[in-house]
Amino acid sequence: MATSCPTASNFSTRCDPMKPAPPVTRIRILPEVQPPRTRSARRKFVNFAPCSVFPCRPRVLRGKPMKKLVALNVVAFAVGLVAALWFRLWPELTRPKYVAPAFRVPSPLDLASLPTAVRFDFPLGSENGAMSYNAQRFTENRHLGDDLNGIGGEDSDLGDPIYAVADGRVLLARDGGPGWGNVVIVLHAYLENGGRKYVQSFYGHVETMLVQAGDEVRRGQQIATVGTADGRYPAHLHFEMREFVTPFVGPGYRENTRGWLDPTAFIKAHRGAPEDDVGRALPAGSSAFPDDAN
Ligand SMILES: [Zn+2]
Repeated sequence: MATSCPTASNFSTRCDPMKPAPPVTRIRILPEVQPPRTRSARRKFVNFAPCSVFPCRPRVLRGKPMKKLVALNVVAFAVGLVAALWFRLWPELTRPKYVAPAFRVPSPLDLASLPTAVRFDFPLGSENGAMSYNAQRFTENRHLGDDLNGIGGEDSDLGDPIYAVADGRVLLARDGGPGWGNVVIVLHAYLENGGRKYVQSFYGHVETMLVQAGDEVRRGQQIATVGTADGRYPAHLHFEMREFVTPFVGPGYRENTRGWLDPTAFIKAHRGAPEDDVGRALPAGSSAFPDDAN
């Protein structure tokens, strides 16, 4: 009888000669892994066999995994689309609902509905500017307008009427900030060389404003009175003509005059026939002065 004890020479107390020897384990030789023959079996095989056994190819997904992948792609696309839209629309969505008048751009409808001005008059004194003088001309000391004064000088023109230079619509009528006092801006449309153009008249340092933003005004209509910018200057009208359509107050002085026009030159060039004068009621004593253009 075979025992688990090797020989008598290496007999050990742990070895029980009466116990049968354990059976010899047979080593099973696995057959070489071969790719299955049928296509469907091969597809399954590829998913589990290592690349060293079978050349790796992209997994062909069918059924549930394919649906999962499609769903994932759809979700990723949707998330990307929403993110792109959000990024694109963010400035619009976060835009403040209230826009200060200084930054409000007239709509095409606003511009189209503007009355067309047929001629322009001076804003102070007589229509042709005779009853006022220009204390500081356009571009003098980088001035962006004309400083119009009553012929009496000093504060003699305080409270004198300021007239709209032409038909138009009030864009802004409010306190213009430090150094300005009240400011009125009127937008005008006029025809030149067959085209419709826009120009705005700007009235600074005014005392009393008689119009509001949005009002339509007629040429020669009183819109304000001459002021001192809250006592900062001798009474005068800071008058600008500009090519802008937006109602911004501006600096008053600047080296670069692009966008600003010479007010006196512009009005003289767009005066129209003298018989179309509306005939302003001039301040007392004005009849002593010749009513000619200065
Ligand atoms: Zn000025």
